[in-house]
Amino acid sequence: MIKERGLLIVLSGPSGVGKGTVRKELFSQPNTNYEYSISMTTRNPREGEIDGVDYFFKTREDFETLIEQGGLLEHAEFVGNYYGTPLAYVNETLDAGRDVFLEIEVQGAAQIRKKAPDALFIFLAPPSLTELKDRLVGRGTETEDIIAKRIATASEELEMMSLYDYVVENDEVTNACDRINAIIKAEHCRRERVEKRYLSMLRGE
Ligand code: 5GP
Repeated sequence: MIKERGLLIVLSGPSGVGKGTVRKELFSQPNTNYEYSISMTTRNPREGEIDGVDYFFKTREDFETLIEQGGLLEHAEFVGNYYGTPLAYVNETLDAGRDVFLEIEVQGAAQIRKKAPDALFIFLAPPSLTELKDRLVGRGTETEDIIAKRIATASEELEMMSLYDYVVENDEVTNACDRINAIIKAEHCRRERVEKRYLSMLRGE
């Protein structure tokens, strides 16, 4: 029997909507059965962030070399810094039959939609734009200028919902996580995915 490839799960949405918090909560649960793909970035580490855990922190030069070498599944420039998903890790994990979870901004998600249309795309939406702004300012880690830029970016991002399969409102982190886990379970039962497995079994593969 052919080993079934894992599912590529893409969680995206506006900056400040709580993607990072939701992702951390999902991965703190004991029954999480998908792997987190650690991103690369050229931004400076925030206090408490660890290289190789939160991100792989890279220089612009190193990042651009990786782009040229085709080492990234997707990449985007976001508020002056590069962010990207290492391709090898994603492919190896999917080939091993494990699901891979990406938490990325919307330009990167749009690139993956083109390259991997059978991935699962989940848009994390804020309960309201006012709340989004409060959360951005409340985080207190960025300057006013950066916050303004992030809010302008977020308004554009909201219009991008149409590229996604599911929208999960982040009213409460635990609710959002429950919905995401339910979506992933349901996605594994989707007829197109299950059918492939049965057909290959019938062919004796
Ligand atoms: P932050 O600087 O707050 O950690 O991240 C800024 C934005 O970049 C967030 O929306 C985050 O989800 C996104 N991001 C993190 N890793 C990646 C990645 O590998 N690719 C893309 N396109 N965006 C990413």
